[in-house]
Amino acid sequence: AGASGLGWSVCLSESLDSTNAEVLRQLSNGVSAPLLVVAETQSSGRGRRGRLWASPFAENLYYSLGLRIEGGAYPLEGLSLSVGLAVLRALREAGCVAVGLKWPNDVLVSGRKIAGVLLELSGDPAGSCQVVIGIGVNANMLPGRADIDQPWTSLRQELGSVVDRTALVLGLSRWLQHYLDVHRDRGFSALRDEWQAVHLWQGREVVLSAGPQQIEGVVLGVDGLGALRLDVAGEERSFSGGELSLRLR
Ligand code: ATP
Repeated sequence: AGASGLGWSVCLSESLDSTNAEVLRQLSNGVSAPLLVVAETQSSGRGRRGRLWASPFAENLYYSLGLRIEGGAYPLEGLSLSVGLAVLRALREAGCVAVGLKWPNDVLVSGRKIAGVLLELSGDPAGSCQVVIGIGVNANMLPGRADIDQPWTSLRQELGSVVDRTALVLGLSRWLQHYLDVHRDRGFSALRDEWQAVHLWQGREVVLSAGPQQIEGVVLGVDGLGALRLDVAGEERSFSGGELSLRLR
């Protein structure tokens, strides 16, 4: 543990079950927030809905930042979208300019996943709670290294050279600090135009899966709280929540 230039507590670990889980454990044991946990590998790295995040040793970034917040005073709506902007800026700064976002939490290059964001909450969202911002970035993973059931890529594959993961941690942390500050002070609505400008599926025909339900529509954008706005048979509807998933029609 130590302190980063940002005044965060920092914990670097060789191996963890999940960096998100470790942040929640440490925060509940009284470690001061913001708390950054980075691991070289995760035995059960988490995606959404109990899915796994492939985490081969020393190849990628497995990064979680924990915050203690007073729920009422901190706007949680749209937070994962604000975080997506930080990831996007960090990847662009690393030289990967073709990167874009897919609602709600994917970071893609040419339709292939290069990074993902997973927010988890513990405590009472209306009172005091802990938020963990989990970020996985594929840095140096090469094809065939991981068993992933959808198209993916890594910075190394996109740039053709090995990426310095320390520089990536520092860049990502600076961008996160920036977007978290804007988000805390002005909410996601201040970032909405910027987010829509990098949303890959603006105007596209999509199918939204909400559990067993499938809704077809055209992407209009997002609202000031980060909810997805769809034109569904000529009527505008908004969707939010952690269980939603988009694909192209
Ligand atoms: P979608 O939006 O495509 O429905 P999702 O947002 O539910 O997916 P997540 O839960 O964020 O996906 O991530 C888990 C999924 O991502 C896994 O099921 C796998 O398909 C894929 N995946 C797992 N590890 C990686 C990785 N290192 N890089 C890219 N994709 C991965």
